[in-house]
Amino acid sequence: MSGMDIDPIFPRGEKNEAYAEYFTGQSYLNTLTTEGVAVSNVTFEPGCRNNWHIHHASSGGGQILLATAGSGWYQAEGEDPVSLEPGSVVQVPAGRKHWHGAKADSWFTHIAIAVPGEDTRNEWLEPVTDEQYGKLK
Ligand code: MN
Repeated sequence: MSGMDIDPIFPRGEKNEAYAEYFTGQSYLNTLTTEGVAVSNVTFEPGCRNNWHIHHASSGGGQILLATAGSGWYQAEGEDPVSLEPGSVVQVPAGRKHWHGAKADSWFTHIAIAVPGEDTRNEWLEPVTDEQYGKLK
């Protein structure tokens, strides 16, 4: 891919059309598992990020992010943004509003693991505005 300066472990997969409405910019999704725990490889082009969202569950649930390539951001509401590099691990508790995505000048890839739980569902919220995103350093 032209301009892609990272070397991902898993194939990038297809353009993430199914969730495109919840992303700013282009992402790619490769669903790695078909049963048990849902594990996906997600790649973000530079500047791409998902909307603020919440992984809900009545017990258990949440999400684990394993950064594998490039450089990205994770931010939980009311907390400082966390820079993600290959090897970074983020444990997102169920119920916490957050977003994740690439840095402005880098591709980024993470593995996303849906932590099993009861009554799990994702709630997609407002986009991360250019103003919010542009302040990240
Ligand atoms: Mn998430």
